[in-house]
Amino acid sequence: VFAGIAQAPEDPILGVTVAFNKDPSPVKVNLGVGAYRTEEGKPLVLNVVRCAEQMLINDPSRYKEYLPITGLAEFNKLSAKLIFGADSPAIQENRVVTVQCLSGTGSLRVGGEFLAKHYHEHTIYIPTPTWGNHPKIFTLAGLTARTYRYYDPATRGLDFNGLVEDLSSAPLGSIVLLHACAHNPTGVDPTVDQWEKIRQLMRSKSLLPFFDSAYQGFASGSLDKDAQPVRMFVADGGELLMAQSYAKNMGLYGERVGALSIVCGSADVAVRVESQLKLVIRPMYSSPPLHGPSVVATILRDSEMFNEWTVELKAMADRIISMRQEYHIYMTSDGRISMAGLNMKNLPHLADAIHAAVTK
Ligand code: PMP
Repeated sequence: VFAGIAQAPEDPILGVTVAFNKDPSPVKVNLGVGAYRTEEGKPLVLNVVRCAEQMLINDPSRYKEYLPITGLAEFNKLSAKLIFGADSPAIQENRVVTVQCLSGTGSLRVGGEFLAKHYHEHTIYIPTPTWGNHPKIFTLAGLTARTYRYYDPATRGLDFNGLVEDLSSAPLGSIVLLHACAHNPTGVDPTVDQWEKIRQLMRSKSLLPFFDSAYQGFASGSLDKDAQPVRMFVADGGELLMAQSYAKNMGLYGERVGALSIVCGSADVAVRVESQLKLVIRPMYSSPPLHGPSVVATILRDSEMFNEWTVELKAMADRIISMRQEYHIYMTSDGRISMAGLNMKNLPHLADAIHAAVTK
């Protein structure tokens, strides 16, 4: 019955790893997937993560029972605190509902399905460019993806006027996807002033913010600083959605650990929103995995381990930031180089510089 089925194309990012794994060459280099590598090009498990895992293994009181549909309660609380801030008024007023999801992707998908079912406006505006999975996630969730201008190749910076124009002409109440920090793929983020203008514009048109936070701590090296735009939107008392991933900032890629938070207008609404999120999750995957959030909660609840994490996170961020330095190489901004400018003496330097700049 499936004889007529067409071969689907490989995923543009994960497909690169498939091809990489198949290649037997000893000199192969994988620059496809966005996973942290050490200076030696090796994957990294944070020391604090190893410690947390050791503690969990040695704890005889731990079982492998199912988690509730909404995941590990302590992990959810700590995740909301991490992104919104310990003193967040929304948390204190019990207006935040947080559910553990399958990393950032799963959080975006559950949020998208919830909006398709319960929100009156089904159009979501995503930046151009954006992470390639965004339009697919939201379209399959039942929303209609449209774009807003974000990057200006001419300045290699934010197209702020384009962004403002496009969001100004979006229908009232539309959903807007915002990268909380370290915009993928451009690395360009609005300044605090620009965020404030975006916030005012969005609130004046009742545009619903859906933040994607996949890199908290990676943009500046500071968890709090990277969360500042999000906290500005929470501070005004308005509603928003937040998809958090621990893939990059704790290096927990394969553990699939993340959270979806919805900041609601009142505690009463939050209770009802949570009940509906459960109805989205139950037929999708029933309940989320146990190991990843246990590791995260072990680290976040303990001030010493938390501090150790911030030091290791800062080291990762600093290494990435340092890879952006100048290498005294001059070329046009479109990436074109004159082959005639190369010789056997300067070729190794160019190769090293390109390698260092792109394996970040
Ligand atoms: N959002 C953005 C912007 C990303 O870059 C990524 C990972 N590349 C994700 C979400 C989701 O990643 P994960 O599902 O592994 O947490």
